[in-house]
Parts: sequence; structure tokens; C-alpha cells
Amino acid sequence: MDETLLMIPGPTRVTPRVLKAMSENIVNHRSAIFGKFLTETSEMLSNIFRTNNKSYILTGSGTAAMEAAIVNILEPGDRILNVVGGKFGERFSNIVEAFGGESKRIEVEWGKAANPDDIKEALEEDESIKAVTVVHNETSTGVANPIKEIGKILDDYDALYIVDTVSSLGGAEVDVDGYNIDICVTGSQKCLAAPPGLAAITLSDDAWDVVENTDSRCYYLDLKKYRKTSSLEPPETPYTPAVSLVYALHEALKVVEEEGLKNRIRRHELAAEATRNAIKALGLELFPDERVSSTTVTAVKLPEGITDAELRGTMRNKYHVELAGGQDHLKGKIFRIGHMGNITHRELITTFSALEMTLRELGFDVEMGEGVAAIADTYLPKNL
Ligand code: PLP
Repeated sequence: MDETLLMIPGPTRVTPRVLKAMSENIVNHRSAIFGKFLTETSEMLSNIFRTNNKSYILTGSGTAAMEAAIVNILEPGDRILNVVGGKFGERFSNIVEAFGGESKRIEVEWGKAANPDDIKEALEEDESIKAVTVVHNETSTGVANPIKEIGKILDDYDALYIVDTVSSLGGAEVDVDGYNIDICVTGSQKCLAAPPGLAAITLSDDAWDVVENTDSRCYYLDLKKYRKTSSLEPPETPYTPAVSLVYALHEALKVVEEEGLKNRIRRHELAAEATRNAIKALGLELFPDERVSSTTVTAVKLPEGITDAELRGTMRNKYHVELAGGQDHLKGKIFRIGHMGNITHRELITTFSALEMTLRELGFDVEMGEGVAAIADTYLPKNL
């Protein structure tokens, strides 16, 4: 069994309790017992999304839910406004184009946050825009986008508001109903700390109106079928679900409930603050502006003279700590520390001890213990 400490922005480490739940025997997926699992899991998801609407579990990774969000509201030629400031913003745009839609992009420099005024301007210019997509936590750059402020603007327009919370739900403030979000998607393997393989989606009444009136090009991800089968007694999914993963997600969400969503978000905020403080204490540079930095993943500029292979390779091979690299044009320019899911000061102390040793070995002028001290100085005054 690989004991590497996963400090990547998903998938995240799963606790033995969740793994154990996954090993329960398989039941009939169209039975009362499984229907109860589905209902409870959906209800817990809706609580975390903070919506009164139903949540639907899809077998597939986060991208399946992103695709479901688009294909169910899209007819060829429809115009969708995609806010693109990283890999996942771009993915929404690619999905729109893959299904014959017209993607109108608002390009945001990678490492910067979206400006709500730009969205307002685009909507004023083009009344035909059917929906706006925003990625809450742009995992590729470590930036948190202002989904609350964007939601206030979208309230004045007919366009649907679609938000990807794949790497933020359960680790950052998300209030689907409060922010006027029409379609919200997430994945199982990040802040919720369940294994990869499931995604979830929730839709407002306005979104359902559009879905019902769209001649969509989908089959497996046709949300109308998920809505219909979820209303059967007992509730079902249209096709055979990943039963074991539903057990695991159900257990992981119970853990979220037991911790309390507020406490969990606070824990993520503290981990992010400690990580940023430790990075600065070591003389490294954060990639995004701190004011827009994510609470679940921190992107850091690779120090001059050290390659990604050297830094992450040493961390992995010598200290068994796995960090993430940059994606696309940020490859070799940044590295990323995921601090989502079950991460506490314990994992951060290990990570930063290893990072200090790695940097010293690679010839970077580092004062040993400064990173760990910054973590202590973040947590100790808060009595945690
Ligand atoms: N959206 C965001 C913000 C992500 O971080 C990811 C995965 O890293 C995805 C979507 C895609 O999720 P998946 O890899 O589960 O398909």
C-alpha cells in the first residue's frame, strides 16, 4: 500500500472509515435499501450546496457533471458565456464547442480572478447569451473567483448561472440558493474526501424550465431521466450506479456533517493561510495575489534555478510527499500544494519540513524551520 502523503488538489486521501464503507456488499440498485442511500446522499449534498433543490449523483468524474450542465441546456448555435482563467474554465468552453454551441469567452489572465463587471458588460452587449459558466476555485491557478458577486449581477439577467465547485465544495463558502446559482456541479474526490468516480449536480427551477424545453444531444447524461427516476418509490438512478462509491460518498458526507460545514470551511481557510505564510517565510513567491487565493490549493512560483522535476521528484522520492505541478503554460513555472479534504496542521508540518529539506538539498538558500514556524504561528494563537 502506497503511504505517500497526497498534497495534491484532488484526489485526496480517504479515511479508513470511508474505505470500509466502500467494502460493504453490493445490493440491488433498485431496492428500498439502496434508494435510502441515494436519498440520504442527495439530501446531504443539497445541504452542503446550500440549496433547497434536489442534488443528483452521476457516475463519472467532475467533468461528467460539467458536461451534464452544458448538454442539457444547449442546442446547436446557442451562445454561452464562458469565464476562462485556467484549465477548468477552458474546459467548459471546450464542452460548449464540442456540442455545437457558440462559446463566448471572457479571458482572464491565469492567476487573476474574474471581474464581475466584465460579465455584466458582456450580458449587456449580447442578450442572446443563454448561460454563464464560472469556475469557483480554478484549481490550475489557485484562484478563487467571486461567485457571490457574480451571482448578484446575474440576478438581473435571464442567462442561467452555472458554477463549477468541483474543488471548493466542502472547503470554501458556497451558497447555491443565496448566490442565485442555477446549476452547480461538484466531484467526490476533492474537499469532500470521497474516492474519485462520482459527480453531483443540482438545478434551480429556472434551470429545469430550460432543460425541459431544450432539444438536448445527450443520452447517458440526460438529467430529465435522473429527475424522473429519483421520484420513483424507491428512488433510483436511470442506469446502474457505482454502488460502492455511493456508500463511500454517503459516509464521507456523514463525516462532513459531523465536523460541521462551517468548521470544515474554517479548517480549510486556516490550512490555506498557514500554507501561504509558510511559503512566504521560506522566501518563495505565491503565484496568485493573496486576496484572490484559494482556500483549498496554493499555487507557488518555482524558485529560480530549480526545476519542477527536481523539486517535486525529491519531495516524492525522498520524502514521500506528492505535490502537483503546473498545467499547460504554467508547467515548470509553478507547483501546487493541495490542502483540501482531511488536511490539518499535521500534514502541513510534514509537507513543509520536507520542502525545507528539499530546497536546501537543491541549493536554495533556506532558513531551516522557518516554514514550520510560520505554520505554528498561524495555528497556535488560534488555540488549535
Ligand atoms: N473543475 C475543477 C475546478 C477541477 O479542479 C477539476 C479536476 O481537477 C475538474 C473540474 C474536473 O474534474 P474531474 O477530473 O473529476 O473530471
